[in-house]
Amino acid sequence: MQNLSDQISNIQSSPTLSLNEKALQLRENGADIINLGIGEPLNDFPENALLFAREKLETRQIKYGPTGGQKSLKLAIQDYTKKHYGRTPTLNNITVTVGAKQALFNVLYILLNPGEEVILFTPYWVSYPELVKLARGKPVLIPTNEHFIPEIDVILAAVTANTKAIILNTPNNPTGAVYPPELIAALVDYCETKKIFLIMDDIYHQLLFDPAQWVPGYVFTSKPINKSHLIIINGISKTYGMTGFRIGWTIASKSVIEAMEKVQSHTTSGASVLLQEAALGAMKDGEQTISDLKTFIQTNKNILTGELKKIKGIKLTDPGGTFYCFPDFRSFHSDSQELAALLLEKAYVATVPGIAFGQEGFLRLSYTCSTEQTAESVARIRWAIDPDAPREIMIRGESCVCNWERKKEV
Ligand code: PMP
Repeated sequence: MQNLSDQISNIQSSPTLSLNEKALQLRENGADIINLGIGEPLNDFPENALLFAREKLETRQIKYGPTGGQKSLKLAIQDYTKKHYGRTPTLNNITVTVGAKQALFNVLYILLNPGEEVILFTPYWVSYPELVKLARGKPVLIPTNEHFIPEIDVILAAVTANTKAIILNTPNNPTGAVYPPELIAALVDYCETKKIFLIMDDIYHQLLFDPAQWVPGYVFTSKPINKSHLIIINGISKTYGMTGFRIGWTIASKSVIEAMEKVQSHTTSGASVLLQEAALGAMKDGEQTISDLKTFIQTNKNILTGELKKIKGIKLTDPGGTFYCFPDFRSFHSDSQELAALLLEKAYVATVPGIAFGQEGFLRLSYTCSTEQTAESVARIRWAIDPDAPREIMIRGESCVCNWERKKEV
């Protein structure tokens, strides 16, 4: 064993990324895997992204750019913020990062002194607790209600003199929950008064299903951005399905942005100038991509949730947005890792165990596969776990017979 830091031994690697790799490996070995474990849409990116990136590449000027992002992209982010948030940040209030993930890392790194607390809601996105720990902070996990909505009294009861920030993600990964405006209003008001940073991870904010409504945090504060404790995280990964481009951004006070850029100047030096150009292209002409993506995931969501609800014993809160749902499988299996392994090995359906998000007995299911696969995945899941389902199923034209015990406690 080589002698690495205590800090890194305390960090888990991302279970969603490693699961994805396992599913890809099985698929490479010929298995007919339906991947409900994946955290990205499979759509094509906007054509304009290609045009902009190609033009940039042809200039042959792919050199270092400004640490915090090129001006043209910052201007596009300024417009985006004006349109979706009703606020116009100055360019000093914007910084571009290598995905929203790096934005979150940089933010936490510049905010936290060792041992300072960050409040997170369970089930949480897998990276939040690890990012807080990487930044030397202490994650404080707060339960949500049965519909995955945090309750204001429970949050406030968890605040201590050491609380530095709260991370809010709505629409939410892994549950698809969209938090009510009253909760956002109460939290924004509280954080602005108490000078606690409210980090709002809005990466899914455009992926909404009727009648859910996402309300930007800025609606509830009259403070100018330079005095506000709101920190807005966003990016192109989910809205445009451009996960591999690795472009995200932050809107915050000038002092937060300057500190984040200090970190960035010594780590990545900034996001790739080529990929910033692609992001700019997408943001200038990506409306059709977003609307097609929304229609696609809405169809899949209706199929997946509709079929799951037909299985007696599965409890499901309808997602208001994202491309995830988080059903409760406890009537069938209490151990989500065992359940996910069973589904992958027997039914060739990849899922993510709820325990990865801090909630046992649940699975996160994504609905970004083809509509046909989405429908078939539920038939396979039911076959693998439900004693009331027939013992035999056809997978890719081959008969598969269940020879393991299926039980249900209702
Ligand atoms: N926040 C949440 C809630 C996410 O689900 C993800 C991606 N899975 C990210 C941030 C990171 O996004 P990016 O690809 O921009 O780093």
